[in-house]
Amino acid sequence: MFIWDFNVIVALSLGLALTVVLAAWVFYTLKRRRPAVLSEQEFFKQCGFCGFLYFDYSKKSPGTCPRCGSYQDR
Ligand SMILES: [Zn+2]
Repeated sequence: MFIWDFNVIVALSLGLALTVVLAAWVFYTLKRRRPAVLSEQEFFKQCGFCGFLYFDYSKKSPGTCPRCGSYQDR
């Protein structure tokens, strides 16, 4: 017969709390995972008018070419 003394209750409650904290940590760590380095190909653009190659990190919808200033569609 299993006897519920104080030491068993403390050990079980600490183990349960540790398991919950560990599970929450693993869950949020896996959920938050993003690529560490953004892909440079996403920002690599070529101007349709002058052929200039550049990186466009701006979020503006019609980006402009840094050399000729023409608007670029995405
Ligand atoms: Zn251009």
